[in-house]
Amino acid sequence: MLSQLRHIVEQVGDAKSLTAAMDALVQQTQSTMEVDCCSIYITDDKTKQLNLMASKGLASQAVGKTHLKFGEGIVGLIHEKGEPLNLANIREHPRYKYLPDAQEERFNSFLGTPIIHKRQVLGVLVAQQKTPRLFSELEESFLVTLAMHLASVLGNSGLRLELDQLNNQLGASIHLQGCPASPGIAIANAYVVRPILALAEVNIEKTHSSCKDILLFEMIVKKCSDEFSNLALTLKEQLSKDAFALFDIYSHVLKDKTFLNAIREQINYHHLTASSAIKVVAESYIRQFEAMSDSYLSERASDIRDVAQRLLYHLTQQVEENVQLPDKLILVASEVTLSMLASIPTDKLQGIVSVHGGVSSHVAILARALGIPAVMGLPLSLDNIHQKTLIIDGYAGCTILFPEQLLLTHYQLLLDEDNELKKLVELGECKEAVTLDGYNISILLNTGLNANQHAAVVGHFDGIGLYRSELPFMLTDSFPTEQDQTESYQRLLSQYAQLPVTMRTLDVGGDKQLSYFPIVEENPFLGWRGIRLTLDHPEIFLVQIRAMLTANLKYQNLRIMLPMISAIEEVDEAKRLIIQAWKEIKYELSLTPEAFPLPEIGVMIEVPSSIFIIPQLAEVVDFISIGSNDLIQYLLAVDRNNSRVASLFDSYHPAVLHSLKLIIDNCMRFDLEVSICGELAGDPIGALILLGLGYNRLSMNANNMGKIKYLINAVPRFELEHCIEQALNANSGSEIRAIFVNYLDRKGLGGFIRAGK
Ligand code: PEP
Ligand code: MG
Repeated sequence: MLSQLRHIVEQVGDAKSLTAAMDALVQQTQSTMEVDCCSIYITDDKTKQLNLMASKGLASQAVGKTHLKFGEGIVGLIHEKGEPLNLANIREHPRYKYLPDAQEERFNSFLGTPIIHKRQVLGVLVAQQKTPRLFSELEESFLVTLAMHLASVLGNSGLRLELDQLNNQLGASIHLQGCPASPGIAIANAYVVRPILALAEVNIEKTHSSCKDILLFEMIVKKCSDEFSNLALTLKEQLSKDAFALFDIYSHVLKDKTFLNAIREQINYHHLTASSAIKVVAESYIRQFEAMSDSYLSERASDIRDVAQRLLYHLTQQVEENVQLPDKLILVASEVTLSMLASIPTDKLQGIVSVHGGVSSHVAILARALGIPAVMGLPLSLDNIHQKTLIIDGYAGCTILFPEQLLLTHYQLLLDEDNELKKLVELGECKEAVTLDGYNISILLNTGLNANQHAAVVGHFDGIGLYRSELPFMLTDSFPTEQDQTESYQRLLSQYAQLPVTMRTLDVGGDKQLSYFPIVEENPFLGWRGIRLTLDHPEIFLVQIRAMLTANLKYQNLRIMLPMISAIEEVDEAKRLIIQAWKEIKYELSLTPEAFPLPEIGVMIEVPSSIFIIPQLAEVVDFISIGSNDLIQYLLAVDRNNSRVASLFDSYHPAVLHSLKLIIDNCMRFDLEVSICGELAGDPIGALILLGLGYNRLSMNANNMGKIKYLINAVPRFELEHCIEQALNANSGSEIRAIFVNYLDRKGLGGFIRAGK
């Protein structure tokens, strides 16, 4: 029986509609389990009932018409308790409720199990038999497993919308929850984009003229390259950070000789049509990348798919694509890709909704960089929504379909207030950050690529708090040479010649992989990451340090920071290597120690163990900087990129707050400079917590600077210290969050964390 499971699951997953999926499931289950009846009841939270939606065995006229109130009958009991029930004779149970239309009286034995997705009971799956008997353990486990699969089908796919629509016959607005990928409100008509021809749908065909197909292929490669570089140029002004580099990855694929030649070979020597050749080569690349099973490399698979899809788009687009786009639109797709974005002018793009993808996908990063509200991972069916009005709340991660007039007016008001707030923030961007009671806060910048573009965007900051040196390494085909690195560090140090620039040494491993140095590990986040890898490869570390030190000769504004430190021995060893490189250069260039001082050296606090060795660290380093992204992931044992546990990544968890307090207390005691360069510093509530705890140095992305400065200038620190006193006694992250949300509301600053003012 269990061997049939996969077959049933596949059929359900492949079904084109919710009704078809549920019908397939009841039919297959009834015959596989050899029972007399199998039924599905679906929860409707609005009417508080369970609706019979599919059955093989109950009277067909009852399907869609039989409802049980919450708590009513055995099905209601399973829904209420959230656990399976196995009964030899259903009529003997005190909660039995007779359903006359369903002709259920023929059945005696009953096995029911809840369909649960993310703790929510979406419905109940039932098997029934005429013979009175208890179901076996095997049958029970079969039905439970099936219900789990059904839950993920219902919970994750566009079928969820259909479920709401089936339950909601009144045509009222539908609220759907996804992941908040980029904050902001958008109201506009949905513009649904579907690939004209999906890669998987291309038929492999031979060409009559290889010459013609080669010509066609070269034309569309050029067209796509132009398209991406044009978009990159348009966005150059707006994209002040790493997001800009995403387009490099695309042009990289389009310039990749091995990839392009493989396609040419398929056309020239195997006589395939251009579209067949693209399919054959792209799919083989995709398979290879996907087989590598780590997140960075599987991302590369989606880049290849996206580029191949775009090439196909241009191939099949016989009539030119001068489609008249509306002035304002919300881009909606099963998987919004960068190439879809490329085809829509940014001034028209009000928002983004993607059924697939998470908050760390490329599109989400780009949306944040552009300030376009986005919701990812939204369980949405794309049918019937093209050109219908949508509301996106990117703060809460929800989308409203078919909004009623009242909702539209409400959100329009919030949108107007958001715009007012944005203007206020922009006005304060050139100011220094000083609290109302006179504390100066250093605002530092996190950067990695295109660091030179920040100056135009941000009026005032006090230095680079984190330069992620691994990002340029991720865009090359082999380790950059010492000369290449020297030149790139020189550019950065001279760009900010008057400011301190903190460069972090290579931090790869975990989710950051180099294509030319793949690391395959069972548990990459707990494995060979950051300093662990570079200390094992001193040749890589020394080259980078030499490049940094040489680049620093002129302006002497470099500080070196070591990532992923978990023990003091790592610092000792890294310092030994840094000093070795420093002595070498001093000797090679005949420099005096005065002309060539050793830069300040610091470490990142990202691994919980490092919190407890701050007194020892204070003896050997000049500063520390808290990498809250990793620190939180390790403190709470929550993978920062795993959407299944995303809700557990709680930046305000009491453990985080108490760790931050311990760190600042020890830094004050041992007179050690401390800053914070994780996302927490650029988060409005996070920044208030840090100020209240006594932190004075916050390093963040350019796009967060304006609002954090505005907040700092609007509050006195002593009030935040009172909030912290309360927060230190709180039991949960939500209590801590509520303390600061209340505070922001009292100050009239609630608009920084939600829609409206
Ligand atoms: C961090 O972990 O908080 C950090 C700043 O480093 P990264 O996000 O690059 O891992
Ligand atoms: Mg980190």
